[in-house]
Amino acid sequence: MNYVSTRGKAPVLGFADVLLAGLARDGGLYMPETWPELSSATLASFAGAPYAEVATRIMAPFLSGNIDEGDLAAAVDEAYAGFRHPAVVPLRQVADNDWVLELFHGPTLAFKDVALQVVGRLFDLELRRRGERLTILGATSGDTGPAAVAACRDRDSLDVFILHPADRISEVQRRQMTTVDAPNVHNLAVEGTFDDCQDLVKAIFSDLALREQLRLSAVNSINWARVLPQAVYYVTAAVALGAPHRPVAFSVPTGNFGNALAGWIAWRMGVPISQLVVASNQNDIATRFLSTGVMEVQTVHPTISPAMDIQVSSNLERLLFELLDRDAPAVAGHMARFSAEGRMEIPVGRLEQVRRLFDATTVDDDAASRAMAGLHAAGGPLVDPHTAVGLVAGQACRRDADVPLVALSTAHPAKFPDTVEAATGVRPALPAHLSHLFELPERYATLPCDLAAVRDYVVAHARA
Ligand SMILES: *Cc1c(COP(=O)(O)O)cnc(C)c1O
Repeated sequence: MNYVSTRGKAPVLGFADVLLAGLARDGGLYMPETWPELSSATLASFAGAPYAEVATRIMAPFLSGNIDEGDLAAAVDEAYAGFRHPAVVPLRQVADNDWVLELFHGPTLAFKDVALQVVGRLFDLELRRRGERLTILGATSGDTGPAAVAACRDRDSLDVFILHPADRISEVQRRQMTTVDAPNVHNLAVEGTFDDCQDLVKAIFSDLALREQLRLSAVNSINWARVLPQAVYYVTAAVALGAPHRPVAFSVPTGNFGNALAGWIAWRMGVPISQLVVASNQNDIATRFLSTGVMEVQTVHPTISPAMDIQVSSNLERLLFELLDRDAPAVAGHMARFSAEGRMEIPVGRLEQVRRLFDATTVDDDAASRAMAGLHAAGGPLVDPHTAVGLVAGQACRRDADVPLVALSTAHPAKFPDTVEAATGVRPALPAHLSHLFELPERYATLPCDLAAVRDYVVAHARA
């Protein structure tokens, strides 16, 4: 399988090069040249099969000619063996025809583990084959950092540096990173805000000589390899609820649009998804784009679902590419305008084909809190605030009560204990395997909010 850039000016690459490159050289995002099909017979054959086996079968055509299927199977098996539930991503019924898909049974209790546990292993596999090393650099406000650290730890081909704002992330989130005892993991507590951390990372990436010297890379959701493993759970959940014979609807709490795009991919490959609800918190650029055709940056509002507090939904560019019938120069033009003016627009008529699948809505903090409280009061599970946004949006936009509706649950409630307790009166407990988190020693370096200080630290400790 070959991959093309949404902006049309970067080289066509195979999967392994796309994996290591992340962003395309022309600033675009990589997309597969064609979409493999999942026929009804194939979907039916997934019923009852282990999750890792189905994941390998779905992903293999996207890696073909590049990464050996046996190697992929081994990476996928190992990745999902580390999940704390035998079903990997269990479905839990919460009402007659309503389900929650629990994506948080990975090592850091966030759905990002589902993709990153595979991606870390694929990076390592490919770099070892090439005899190369990479330096992974990122900033975190809480959720992505622990998942990236857990994915890269102890992989000799990778060094990982994660910046977090000192004293401004929760203790659980900090400890999930700083208690990892692995020589290739470097946690940097920066005396500044999350925005300062992001600016420092951007400044280091924009130094092209340094970027080359350190072989810098990122594991964010602009990387195609991050999106692909997420398409799998849409397939397995749909099959568990009756596909290919019955349609299924999903509601997806959305920030960068990676997860929602993965649902679109499953639909595009032939899964009978009748509706995909895009659930935004107040940071709703994706919902506004899908409703009006206008993509416009606004300032970030802090909410109780912080993993979705974003200005830009980067993966909308992949959907735009498809909406414009893969007209890369047109995508490049729209994105250049967006980057210069913070706004671009496509005719609403262009959205018609995706509106048949997508509905989108914005959910405020009060509604999300009421949903957490209501579900708990009705005897249902405690859910985290991101999941609550998806639950509210799913109910608001549901088209057909006879079609099963699956809300994606993207974090364990114990990752957001204060918010869950404020809404429900119950403080969710950390799962047993993480209860020792508060006893382990922490390892991190505290650095001033200063580019030279951070850069020198990375240069001194990276092995690439
Ligand atoms: C990252 C994240 C999201 C948003 O996912 P996107 O793919 O960026 O849309 C939602 N919930 C949680 C808990 C997350 O960590």
